Amino acid sequence: MRTVEEHQSVVAGLFKTRAPQQLPLVRTLGLALAADVVAPLSLPGFDNSAMDGYAVVASDLTDATDRHPVRLPVDEDIPAGRTDPLTLKPGTAHRIMTGAPLPTGATAVVPVESTDGATDTVTIRASVRPGQHIRTAGEDVTAGSTVLQAGQLVTPAALGLAAALGLPDLLVVPPQRVLVMSTGTELVAPGIPLLPGQIYESNAVMLAAAVRDAGAEVTVAPMSADDVDTFRATLAGHAADVDLIITTGGVSAGAYEVVKDALAGQVEFVKVAMQPGMPQGSGLVDGTPIVTLPGNPVSALVSFEVFIRGPLRAAMGHPQPDRPRRAAFLTEDLTSPRGKRQFRRGVLTGDSVSSYGPPASHHLRWLASANCLLEIDEDVTELAAGAPVPVWDLR
Ligand code: AMP
Ligand code: MG
Repeated sequence: MRTVEEHQSVVAGLFKTRAPQQLPLVRTLGLALAADVVAPLSLPGFDNSAMDGYAVVASDLTDATDRHPVRLPVDEDIPAGRTDPLTLKPGTAHRIMTGAPLPTGATAVVPVESTDGATDTVTIRASVRPGQHIRTAGEDVTAGSTVLQAGQLVTPAALGLAAALGLPDLLVVPPQRVLVMSTGTELVAPGIPLLPGQIYESNAVMLAAAVRDAGAEVTVAPMSADDVDTFRATLAGHAADVDLIITTGGVSAGAYEVVKDALAGQVEFVKVAMQPGMPQGSGLVDGTPIVTLPGNPVSALVSFEVFIRGPLRAAMGHPQPDRPRRAAFLTEDLTSPRGKRQFRRGVLTGDSVSSYGPPASHHLRWLASANCLLEIDEDVTELAAGAPVPVWDLR
């Protein structure tokens, strides 16, 4: 039997980072930048008003107070978006709106609140310092400076910055493209009435969501019956242009193990000393990495967490590919089988953790409301309430 770490390193070795791509901004959220972003222009691009008010020469208002207001003729009205060049004559004012270009010669903006708001001759009741309420060209970003670093993940704010700089796209590490395919003759799509012995297929939607949640792109293949020809045909029909194939089911020790039967020779089928998730497989199909997970839903999702999620995110350049791990204190006694790494579902509250539901691998209900995995070592068979146990934080 392989250890968890041995299989982790075999699976991690399959992943390849895709060549950087220039993608439109809307497709880059959450992806890693493949190069520094250098500002092609300054921000602000021109001196402009930080307030709705009046552009003035500050020295015209030195003595302006509530009791001795200063009156200035209003020569121009400058809304945001006005593009013709303007010059302010000393002894006059231009009405100006937030974001509008400051006229040449103006040295400050008086907020409308300190005036009567007039459009012909304005009465101003306060003085202003030179430079006040002006946003100076380049005070945020200087053209030519590095504003985002290679390796940084694209956030909504980074997208705002890129757009403000007039960049239509960004050079990023493209997302991994993952094909998810489930197998089992007993499986039926939700919505179709079940015959006795049939169950609803649940792994595909669950793993597709887990793949997407990890930041990758996913395609779901039609599920395959436990028939080698059907399986091969379905796989061949959907495996083009993907970076990873994930199958579920058909890899354990019974008969009708369709994945094993179809991929013997290309995929190495192994047992990993863990619970759940002992039967595993990995390899290359026509050069495309494939990881074959067991079919029990809990095994499938726990296996995805343990073997796939981290390297998948690492292949996309994610700086923290792994789930946060730490120790939490058990609220109850627990037992665990000797010789297997046990991943139990748990609920983490502060520093305490309670195991949640039985260890068996078909109990989806508990998994659905768990927020962590407890990782119990191979040589640990009993843990007492209060003992520290490593947890993977799934939140
Ligand atoms: P297998 O790994 O194919 O032997 O399947 C193990 C168990 O998981 C069996 O009870 C299957 O019916 C169940 N199972 C396998 N695939 C799925 C699936 N996609 N959705 C729900 N249950 C499944
Ligand atoms: Mg099966």
